[in-house]
Amino acid sequence: MFIDQVKIYVKAGGGGDGCVSFRREKYVPRGGPNGGDGGKGGDVILNATGDLSTLLDLRYQQHYLGKRAGHGKGKDKHGRDSPDAVIPVPLGTVVRDAVSEELIADLTEEGQTVVVARGGKGGRGNARFATPTDQAPTHAEPGQKGEERWLLIELKLLADVGLVGLPNAGKSTLLSSISSARPKIADYPFTTLSPYLGMVRWEPYKSYVVADIPGLIEGAHEGRGLGIQFLRHIERTQILAFLIDISEGIEENPVGQFEMLRQEIEAYHPLHVKGPPPSRPGLSALGGLAEPEARLMAQKPLIVVGTKLDLKGNGERLRGLADYCEKKGNVFLAISAVTGEGVAALKTELGRQVESYRRIKTCAMS
Ligand code: GDP
Ligand code: MG
Repeated sequence: MFIDQVKIYVKAGGGGDGCVSFRREKYVPRGGPNGGDGGKGGDVILNATGDLSTLLDLRYQQHYLGKRAGHGKGKDKHGRDSPDAVIPVPLGTVVRDAVSEELIADLTEEGQTVVVARGGKGGRGNARFATPTDQAPTHAEPGQKGEERWLLIELKLLADVGLVGLPNAGKSTLLSSISSARPKIADYPFTTLSPYLGMVRWEPYKSYVVADIPGLIEGAHEGRGLGIQFLRHIERTQILAFLIDISEGIEENPVGQFEMLRQEIEAYHPLHVKGPPPSRPGLSALGGLAEPEARLMAQKPLIVVGTKLDLKGNGERLRGLADYCEKKGNVFLAISAVTGEGVAALKTELGRQVESYRRIKTCAMS
């Protein structure tokens, strides 16, 4: 299992101070206390969402501070409550107190929330302290401090996108150019063939996990070499990206390579890549099916990526593969991990596909 772990510091907003104030009216000495209460400080809240599949955003930002509330004012005006700080986290996030390791929450459902630090209460203004014997109190309360603590946040990861390709196709290079964090791999069942995982952020608060699985060799489905383990890995991903080297001077034609890879995977699990999957699978495609799960597998989208665009030469191999994909209805993109050309577009395309796949899955399960 892959585990992503992050420590974050949360501190809720302090409450506003109560106010000491007196009514001032002409000819009325000491018109009575009218200091308002302070507002309540903002909580820090974790909110589970299916839009995320990594804790990447929490790595970028480690400290979350709720805002201080407004202080009370004269004329019985209360201070404004401050807004809560809401931190989106992926489904499956487990939250612990970093010091005691006590379990705080296990967030598994869309929209599930937990308050991890409570905002301070506002202090009472002097108007609240008036009594028959003390009609002009000159004291008010300060606002309370917001709670603060360190949290240990953990997530078990499954890869959303699997990179498939022959050795040297450019898988590792691509992964390192689109992802910025590597989760720790603990206790993975196929230890001889650990895939490398990278977490990709493609929009603020949207991320997915890409697995670079060491090279597929021909005959993998017959159990040759490490192939069968490789195939088990990709069974767990939602989307497959086929990486094909389109640089000049390689003998085997790119279409042949693509078909070889595709057949290899189909032979192991025919459901994976049947038919041209829609690039944006629509919900209508699910209509009236008894076995949504099975259908989902059949719909597992694939995308074809021509690599090493900077070495395309006269572009013959590139065009050959692009035309073939167009005919077959497969999404095709070309990239160069060296110059960066096409990489951002690929990152976004994969993000969109992961997103629509997740949406379909949510609908099919409910
Ligand atoms: P993998 O076996 O599929 O993981 O392939 P690698 O990522 O290790 O890449 C194989 C070789 O191709 C390495 O020497 C890379 O530097 C090179 N390479 C990868 N991507 C590109 C690219 O976009 N342009 C060029 N010119 N070389 C690349
Ligand atoms: Mg590699």
